[in-house]
Formats: sequence, structure tokens, C-alpha cells
Amino acid sequence: MTCNKCASSNQRGFTGELTLSFSELKNVNLAPVYSSADVLVCLDCGHVELTLPAAKLEQLKQGALEERSPSSGEAGAIKS
Ligand SMILES: [Zn+2]
Repeated sequence: MTCNKCASSNQRGFTGELTLSFSELKNVNLAPVYSSADVLVCLDCGHVELTLPAAKLEQLKQGALEERSPSSGEAGAIKS
């Protein structure tokens, strides 16, 4: 298997932990999603590939739905 970015074969697998936060200010009330995953790192260019567990992917989908719901549309509005 070669790196999808630079085609190097100098890749190594690791176990990684990451926190995925919904990035827009209006989403500060959405809890971050914590996950561990097997991570493939290219040791030449730093490109990283990983696959999230299905349960964590579902949490991200639910958060994305909350982002788009009409009730959360003005949650991040800053009033002066
Ligand atoms: Zn690479």
C-alpha cells in the first residue's frame, strides 16, 4: 500500500485518539466526539488516513443534523 498523497511506501500504523469538534461558533453547545482509531501515517509527507468506528460516525451524523435544524439556526447569534 502506498501513500495517497505522495505515493511513498514508507507508512506505518498507529493507534490514535482524537477529538472532533463542530467548528462553527453556533455549535459550541454540541459536545465534541472522542474516538480512538487505527491510523496509517506516511512517514515521508505526514499524510494520515483513518477510519472512524461506526458508532462515532453516527455521533457525527447526529451532530451534523443538529447543525442544520431550524431550532439551532440562531443559537450562535451574538447580540450586542
Ligand atoms: Zn506521503
